[in-house]
Amino acid sequence: MDLDVTGVEQAVSTGSLPDGERVEQLVAAAHERNRLVADGVVADYIPALASADPDAFGVCVVGTDGAVHAAGDVDVEFSIQSISKAFVYALVCEVVGHRVARERVGVNNTGLAFNSVVAIELNDGHPMNPMVNAGAIATTGLVPGADDAERWEFVGSGLAAFAGRELRVDEEVYASEAATNQRNQAIARLLASYGRLDADPRRSVDLYTRQCSVLVTARDLAVMAATLADGGVNPVTGRRVVSAGVCRDTLAVLASTGLYERSGDWLFEIGLPGKSGVSGGLVTVAPGKAGIATWSPPLDDAGNSVRGQRATAYLSRALGLNVFASADYRLSGPADEPRRNT
Ligand code: GLN
Repeated sequence: MDLDVTGVEQAVSTGSLPDGERVEQLVAAAHERNRLVADGVVADYIPALASADPDAFGVCVVGTDGAVHAAGDVDVEFSIQSISKAFVYALVCEVVGHRVARERVGVNNTGLAFNSVVAIELNDGHPMNPMVNAGAIATTGLVPGADDAERWEFVGSGLAAFAGRELRVDEEVYASEAATNQRNQAIARLLASYGRLDADPRRSVDLYTRQCSVLVTARDLAVMAATLADGGVNPVTGRRVVSAGVCRDTLAVLASTGLYERSGDWLFEIGLPGKSGVSGGLVTVAPGKAGIATWSPPLDDAGNSVRGQRATAYLSRALGLNVFASADYRLSGPADEPRRNT
């Protein structure tokens, strides 16, 4: 696809969140109405994740003005898992640029599970997109640095800048996944066999496993998401983390791929870019307005948090965040369930 957009002056058009008191009420309501939903199963394919509390549930919204609205377990740490893919991708895009990111990693949905090997084979060895394991490992392979320590510094300090605080690795989760991630190792070697990985496969998987083991809270994730909503400036610290162009590119990728093979359902119902992870986190970005994060470990069969999806659907509607909505619309059912427009 060759699009001639050189020299076009870029403009941005967006709205704003309702007033703080209203956001506070709606965040509390998103938590309250989904607190007792009992569907979903806690992930156990990484042994250390199996002990997560299925009742834990936090909801947090951070506006691009830096205001924090929280309900429930928003200060409990858990490993970030796949949500790291979104932020490491942004950090890497900042370094390698739009064209290399698109060519080496890709931006199209696989339509298959996050850890699919078949997806690689079906696409001539291409990792397809940075939000599935193959693309995340290919992205990690583009991290700059002369050695493992420098590459980790790039990833660790970048994630910390997004969160606005120092983050540490859960060594137990890291060791548990490192001992059981043969599938990710196979994915990396398969990419390397196709010449699609720019670094040593073992090192790339190790770096990826470490980035997935970084401990965050729902509050951290909401600040990280708000940074992507705010054109790359962390609205709490005021510090620029990535450029506005990188945010736009990252959000476009999240919109089409952030919830794996359910990304279409997600966009249809929520209308915002999002990213989920197997430890039960879910981040959603309302460009120019806010970052939303939820944490609830029980997952659906695609690996997306059940309560998280419901709470975010509620907030997207109640706060008016769907990027495709151009006029008020009346709804036929409860705000956190799929419904018909009337
Ligand atoms: N570290 C996990 C894995 O590679 C992350 C997967 C996820 O959160 N979906 O399997």
